[in-house]
Amino acid sequence: MAETASDVNFKASSNVARMQPSSTLAAMQAALALKATGADVVDLGPGEPDFDTPAHIKEAAAAAMTAGQTKYTPTSGTRKLQQAIAGYYEREFGARLDASEIMATAGGKQAIFNAVVTLCGPGDEVLIPKPYWVTFPEIVTFAGATPVFIDTEETGFCLTAEQVAAAITPRTRLIIVNSPSNPSGRVIAPREFERIMEVVTERGVYAVSDECYLRFVYEPAGVFSAATLAPELRARLCIAGSFSKTYAMTGWRIGYSLAPAAWTREMNTVQSHSTSNPSSISQAAAAAAFDSPQDCVRAMLAEYRRRRDWLVKALRGVPGLRCVEPEGAFYAFPEVRGCLGGELKTSADFADRLLREAQTVVTDGAAFGCEGYIRMSYATSMERLEEGVERIRRVAEKYAG
Ligand code: PLP
Repeated sequence: MAETASDVNFKASSNVARMQPSSTLAAMQAALALKATGADVVDLGPGEPDFDTPAHIKEAAAAAMTAGQTKYTPTSGTRKLQQAIAGYYEREFGARLDASEIMATAGGKQAIFNAVVTLCGPGDEVLIPKPYWVTFPEIVTFAGATPVFIDTEETGFCLTAEQVAAAITPRTRLIIVNSPSNPSGRVIAPREFERIMEVVTERGVYAVSDECYLRFVYEPAGVFSAATLAPELRARLCIAGSFSKTYAMTGWRIGYSLAPAAWTREMNTVQSHSTSNPSSISQAAAAAAFDSPQDCVRAMLAEYRRRRDWLVKALRGVPGLRCVEPEGAFYAFPEVRGCLGGELKTSADFADRLLREAQTVVTDGAAFGCEGYIRMSYATSMERLEEGVERIRRVAEKYAG
């Protein structure tokens, strides 16, 4: 009898077999399963804005469709989007970018993927500060390179140039820096960022700066893009940018990379043989996002700030929890060790107890390389946040030593 699909013992390639499935998506699945039972779930898991995409951006997409912009585009993006990106960086940061350095991608994630796979392979080490966004080590692993983690707990999760210098070996090819950070919300001060880039440049190491939360920074911390660094510090730097968070456009899958022309050329080759180009319609929407007044971003930022201020204060009143104030993004990353040691041993146990006893979804810090912490997204309404913190308090009170 002929072999059927279900009979085949499928064996993934060695590159893929080494990868782990996304643990943040696993948390999303758990929340969905619980919601399906009719439970009143407070979901503080998703790294996704709870706002709708602003109307003028959707209108630009609709107009592009009507005008027939429904075909393939150049791999690196339409001229209009490239010009919008260059114009935005010049207006906002005084940074000058040539079209040969700009590439439109299907989200910041693809920009990071392109950057890593064009640069790294077997034998290479890639430095990743902890806590890290879950995708970083998996892309590195896929490329056949080895992730090497830098522990930043003792500096309050703020990466320093000294930590980077101490971690570099002759095999270090790349470092991936993410400020504002998912999950910690910490922001690297501009001068420290510059020192980090001085160290890596001097040691011949490349850098990816993931700036997907670029605009979500709360004063007195300031918005900083690595695009403003001196040209000699950008010679080995690729910036990954995204429209997903800034304009509540996660489903549109649109982002970009800014990198030296030679690196961009190689990334083009990879992209041309994988996804070709990001959606033409999303590109039109993204161009409108950058070309229009930025009031919508300011309004979202103000609301995130209101939630952050409330949340951090509230979490500091919960027994067993300690919470550093995040200066950016939309996550709190409290330490929960004060609730561990008895019945609960790990932050995964704590997250699991929250889910079972209080129908509240958070993400275990171990998924981001930091056991003893949980990540809570405040990209949800104040009312749900208040309810979530109340539930967390009830569980924490039970286990706090
Ligand atoms: N980088 C970080 C730190 C993120 O948190 C995310 C999304 O969650 C991304 C990159 C990728 O975003 P996108 O691919 O939607 O642009």
